[in-house]
Amino acid sequence: MLDVQVKNQLIKILGADRYLDRLEEVACYAYDAFVVEALPDAVLFPETTAEVSELLKIASRYKIPVTGRGAGTSLCGASIPIRQGIVLCLSKMDKIIEVNTRDRYIIVQPGVVNADVQKALLPFRFFYPPDPGSMNTSTIGGNIAMNAGGPRCLKYGVTIDYVLGMEVVLASGDIVRFGSRNVKDVTGYRLSSLFCGSEGTLGIITEAILKVMPMPEAVKTLMVTFDNLDNTTKAVTDIIGSGIIPVAMELMDKLTLNAIEDAANLGLDRKAEGSLLIEIDGVKEACEKEMNKVIEKVRQNGAIHIQEAKSDIEREKLWTARRSAYGVFAKLAPDIVTEDVTVPVSKVPLMIRQIIEITDKYGLKVGVLAHAGDGNMHPMIPANKEDKEEWAKVKKAFSEIFQAAAKLGGTLSGEHGIGLAKAEFLPLVMNKDTIDLMKKIKQAIDPDLILNPGKFV
Ligand SMILES: Cc1cc2nc3c(=O)[nH]c(=O)nc-3n(C[C@H](O)[C@H](O)[C@H](O)COP(=O)(O)OP(=O)(O)OC[C@H]3O[C@@H](n4cnc5c(N)ncnc54)[C@H](O)[C@@H]3O)c2cc1C
Repeated sequence: MLDVQVKNQLIKILGADRYLDRLEEVACYAYDAFVVEALPDAVLFPETTAEVSELLKIASRYKIPVTGRGAGTSLCGASIPIRQGIVLCLSKMDKIIEVNTRDRYIIVQPGVVNADVQKALLPFRFFYPPDPGSMNTSTIGGNIAMNAGGPRCLKYGVTIDYVLGMEVVLASGDIVRFGSRNVKDVTGYRLSSLFCGSEGTLGIITEAILKVMPMPEAVKTLMVTFDNLDNTTKAVTDIIGSGIIPVAMELMDKLTLNAIEDAANLGLDRKAEGSLLIEIDGVKEACEKEMNKVIEKVRQNGAIHIQEAKSDIEREKLWTARRSAYGVFAKLAPDIVTEDVTVPVSKVPLMIRQIIEITDKYGLKVGVLAHAGDGNMHPMIPANKEDKEEWAKVKKAFSEIFQAAAKLGGTLSGEHGIGLAKAEFLPLVMNKDTIDLMKKIKQAIDPDLILNPGKFV
């Protein structure tokens, strides 16, 4: 519970209806999509940048921890208020301020859901490329704070590549703005890049200028299956080696395909050891030419079944299969941990084999999804965290998976971030001086360490 004097000051800014502190209310903000929970003392819902600034001034004065929150879909515990204090929920700052397709940008508040940005751009035949699997729920503030990626980031890049500018409120309550509406801007430090992926530890994002893209003329989608994983991943490197960068190359292993088929009966090939969902876009003629080349490459690698979507409905069906993987796996046990180690693309088959070997050793079930074109893997382990023995095995397995990825020249996270889940493993991929540099940056911007404390820095 916050001190009554602090509570009254916060309510004076927001009104009582945007301040929650009853147990049954704050319990809804104690968790995200990771497996740790912590109750905040209070949850606040600002509607303007000025309110965020006033709230942070009070939090700074009384040194109260503040954890920003969008939709709470973080897979690494980034939005868990592990040191209690205030959860600052940005969901009411959900206005689209300007759509400007002539100059290729959209300006939004942080609580706008990713899918609503896409909807706002659709009538102009434009789109915003970052497409996390959580796009129907997760917010732009959360996407920027986590530097979110998604399937089509293989061709288009991740969130950081689309943030032109930002308004941020610092822990002190100071309001800073950087970047601009210009696609090119090299004026001073590129602060947007510092705040992208900062996981709410450096400031609260209150507005963002995002670069948008015209929709391609044509899209072609293909589902291919293989009878072994090596051929599946070799097809990926062969396609890229032939000069084609598809929009997406999504890999699913046998267990994942079968779990989806059990749940949704979509007609997927149950015998396949690996599958690829491949999408190409661009000008119609180029798209057709590239797709023919892709088909040639998958055939050369022993594809056993090739299914090209003939309509938007068929295309959506293939994507539904891919998108449902996490939900399907989440139903297999009370809890699920999904990680996202990333390795150089040529090391994907080896990494997948090691993931399977490690989990087999501990008798754990694992499904592997991968944004295979950029080496980003999502091993999903369903388990029960109340079963202490099993949970200890899950922890050991992930620790070994992180070590294996580091040995292959990979990294801890391609898109889900570090949060609580991976903080202890940072030394595997960063030396002490680098970690110290991050700590110095944090200290300089948030000297009382009130913003999202207890996380990776
Ligand atoms: C089913 C599912 C699929 C997913 N697929 C993907 C995927 O394909 N790619 C991917 O990258 N991620 C994916 N994720 C993870 C998650 O959706 C992303 O990390 C997303 O960007 C989080 O957005 P959010 O609004 O839910 O943020 P939250 O979970 O609420 O917060 C995440 C972090 O951002 C900070 N934050 C939130 N808003 C602000 C703000 N305005 N200012 C400063 N800090 C802020 C929080 O403090 C926290 O550290 C998936 C998650 C699920 C559950």
